[in-house]
Amino acid sequence: MFLEKILYSRTLNCIKMKKFIYSLSLIFFIVFNVNSQEDISASPKSGHTNNNKFKQLYEEFSSPNRYRTASGAPGSEYYQQKVDYIMNIELDDKNTKLYGEETIIYKNNSPDQLNYLWLQLDQNIRKKDAPALQKNGGGAEPLIPVEVFVSTYFEESFDGGFNIDWVKTKSGSPLKYIINNTMMRIDLPKSIKPGEDFSFKIKWWYKINDHVTNRARSGYEYFPKDGNKAYVIAQFFPRMAVYNDVEGWQNYQFWGNGEFALNFGDYEVNLTVPADHIVEATGDLKNAREVLTSQEYKRYKKAQNTFDKPVIIVSQEEVIEKESKFSEKKKTWKFIANNVRDFGFASSRKFIWDMMAVKVGSRKVMAASLYPKEGNPLWEEYSTLAVAQTLDTYSKYTFNYPYPKAVSVHAKNQGMEYPMICWNYGRPDEDGKYSDRVKFGMISVIIHEVGHNYFPMIVNSDERQWGWMDEGLDTFMQYLTEQEFGENFKESITPYNTYPSRRGEPSKIVPYMSGSQDYISTIMSNPENVFQLGPNAYAKPATALNILRETIMGRELFDHAFKTYSQRWMFKHPTPEDFFRTMEDASAIDLDWFWRGWFYSTDYVDIGVKEVKKYIVSSKPGPEVDKILSYSGITLKDLAPMYVFMVPENENSNTLDKSPIENSIPLKKYIKEKYGNIEIADINIPKYFYEIEFEKPGGLVMPLIVEYSYEDGTKDRIKYPVQVWRKNDKSVKKVLATNKVLIGVKVDPDMETADIDNSNNSWPKEKSASDFEKYKAKIKG
Ligand SMILES: [Zn+2]
Repeated sequence: MFLEKILYSRTLNCIKMKKFIYSLSLIFFIVFNVNSQEDISASPKSGHTNNNKFKQLYEEFSSPNRYRTASGAPGSEYYQQKVDYIMNIELDDKNTKLYGEETIIYKNNSPDQLNYLWLQLDQNIRKKDAPALQKNGGGAEPLIPVEVFVSTYFEESFDGGFNIDWVKTKSGSPLKYIINNTMMRIDLPKSIKPGEDFSFKIKWWYKINDHVTNRARSGYEYFPKDGNKAYVIAQFFPRMAVYNDVEGWQNYQFWGNGEFALNFGDYEVNLTVPADHIVEATGDLKNAREVLTSQEYKRYKKAQNTFDKPVIIVSQEEVIEKESKFSEKKKTWKFIANNVRDFGFASSRKFIWDMMAVKVGSRKVMAASLYPKEGNPLWEEYSTLAVAQTLDTYSKYTFNYPYPKAVSVHAKNQGMEYPMICWNYGRPDEDGKYSDRVKFGMISVIIHEVGHNYFPMIVNSDERQWGWMDEGLDTFMQYLTEQEFGENFKESITPYNTYPSRRGEPSKIVPYMSGSQDYISTIMSNPENVFQLGPNAYAKPATALNILRETIMGRELFDHAFKTYSQRWMFKHPTPEDFFRTMEDASAIDLDWFWRGWFYSTDYVDIGVKEVKKYIVSSKPGPEVDKILSYSGITLKDLAPMYVFMVPENENSNTLDKSPIENSIPLKKYIKEKYGNIEIADINIPKYFYEIEFEKPGGLVMPLIVEYSYEDGTKDRIKYPVQVWRKNDKSVKKVLATNKVLIGVKVDPDMETADIDNSNNSWPKEKSASDFEKYKAKIKG
C-alpha cells in the first residue's frame, strides 16, 4: 500500500493515469502472487474447511462463562464443593487388613440441588472380578517376567476391594446406596440445597495388596529376610467424587491409568498401628509426644530448627534393633490437615526417619524422609535434600509452598504422590552399591513426586480426565528443579556438568514424535485411551512448555504467565482451557497455533532449507519481468525509471562486481536525492541478495530460527516469527541482503524446536559420514 503511493506520485507525468493505475495493480497482483509463494491449500477459501494452523480455537474450547472467564481466570460465580473427613483407621499388620470408620461432611457450594452423592471406591479395581483386570487385549507374550508369569497363570488373582459394613446418616439411620464398579451412589432421603451441608458415616475394611507383586499405587512390600512389611497406603477410604460446572458429577470409572479427581477439605485422621511402627502422613502430627520415645521426640524438636542438614530421628541401628521384635501393643497417631484434596500414610517398624527445616518465603516447612535400611546409603544422603530443593524451586516459579511439611517415603518401584507425602523408588544393590541410573532416577522421582504437591494437589486439576495437566506441568517444573539441583550440588552430579535430566530437552522428545503415527495420541486425550502414556502425558507437554519458555515466549513472559496460572488456580480446579487462556492472557502472545499443533494434533516439527539463490542488482531486467510486461501491456520504457531489477547472479555475470548503485540508474538517482551530500561510500549498501527457500515437511509450525555463515567467518542469527508460515504451510522464501558472501545456512542451529530430521537443516547439505565410512575410519585408526 505504501509503495504504491510513492510510485503513483512520481510517475504521474509519464503515463496516463487511468491506464497506469490499472496496469500497476495488475503488476502488483502478478508480482505478489509469484513472490509470496502462497500455499493456496493452507489459506481460507469460501466453501472449504478452514484448516489454517493459526485459526483460533473457538471450536475446540468450551465457551467462557461466569464460572470460568475468557481470560482463563476463575469467574465471578466460580464455586467448588468442600468435603471434610473425620476418620478412625486401624492397620492389622498380621493379617494385612485395613479397617476404617469415617464421617464425611459434604458442603454443597454449587447453585444446584443434589439428590444423590457419588463416592469413589478405588480399591474395587482390585476385586477379583473387576472389569479393569480384563480391559486390555494382547495375547501370548514372547517373554514375561517370572513373577508376572506365575501370578498370571498359576495363581488365583488377589481379591481386594472394599467391604462396606454400613452407610448411615449422622443420627444413625441407614442410607440407601448402590455400587457400580468403582463408584458408589448414595441416595439421599432429602435433597441437599445450594449452600447446605450433609454429614454421613461409612464403615468399611479391605485386604491390603502387596504392591510389589500386585502393581498398585498403594499397598505393602514384604521383606522376607526379617518378616516385616512397609506400608504405603492411599485411595484407602471411600472418597467423594467431584461435582462441578464442567463434568457435573465426575464419576468416570477408575480403570487404572486415569488418576483422581478430588475435592478440597479438612481432615482429622487417627491412625492406629503396631506400637513399634513409625508413621508419616498427610497433615500435622498432633500427638508427637505420645507416640514418640523421649529420645525420638527430642530429635524431632531439634529438626524443627535445623536448616543446614537433616536430623536423624530414628536411626538405622535403632531400626535394626526393632526389626526382630514384633510389638503386640498399639499406638494411635493423630493427624490434622487443612485444605488438602486427599490423605495418604506410610507405616512400618522398618522406617528410618530424618527431617530438616526449610525456609519458604517467611515460613518454615519441614522436609522429611522415611526409608527402610535397604534404601541406604542412598536415601540418607539425597532424599531430604531433594525434597528441600523441590520446595525451593517450585515456590520460586509458582507460589510459596503452603503446607507445613513434605515427606518422601521410599517404596520399591513406586513413584506416587499425595498431599505432603509421596512414595519413591531408587534402591541400591544389597551391598549398598548403586549406579548413576539408580541415583539420578531416585533424585528425579523425589523431585517429581514432591512437585506434585503443586500440580495436582494444590492446582487441583482433574487427573481422571487430563493426565497431562498435572504430569506435564510437573515434569516441566521437575526439569527446572533438576537443573537447579545440579547447579547447587555440583559435586553430587560429577562427572556431569549439568544434571542429567531424562525429560525436558527438545532433542529428547524426537524419537517419540517421529515414531509411527499409529501409536501416538494427542496430548488432549483421556489417559485411559492413549498410546505411550509416559511420552504423551509427561515428556511431550513438559518439552512443549520448555520450548514455549525458551524459544517462543521468552523466560520473562513465560514465567509471569505460568506463575499467574498457578496463583489463579491455587486451591481451585482448573481445566485445560483455563491454562491455555491464562498463558495468552498474561503475555499478549497468541498461542492458539501452538496449543493446536502440540496439544490437539500429533504433528511433528520438520523444517529445512531447500534452496539458496544469489541475486544481484542489474541494469537489465530478468526474464520474469518480461513475463509481467507481456501480461500487463506496460512497456519497459515506462517501468525502467522507477524499478530496480534483480536477477539471479549467473544470468548477468558482467555486473557481478559492481555496486548495486552502479547497476541501477533509478537507484542511484533516488539515493542521491534522499541522502544529499553524504558520500555514497559511507552508506552501507548490500551487494548480494540471497533468496533462501525454507521447506516444512513437518505438520507443526514453529518460529524459523536460522544461522547464516559468511565467507569471512562471521555469522548472523535471524529468528523469523512463526507467523511466516501462516500463508505458506509447505515452504517459504526470505531474502537476505548482505555485503558478505554467504557460505552456509543452518535451520534451528541449537536444536531447540524438536525438529525430527536434521538431514535437511543445512545448506550446503552437511555430509554425514555413513556408518560404513565411520567404521573404515575407525579401522584405519
Ligand atoms: Zn507424576
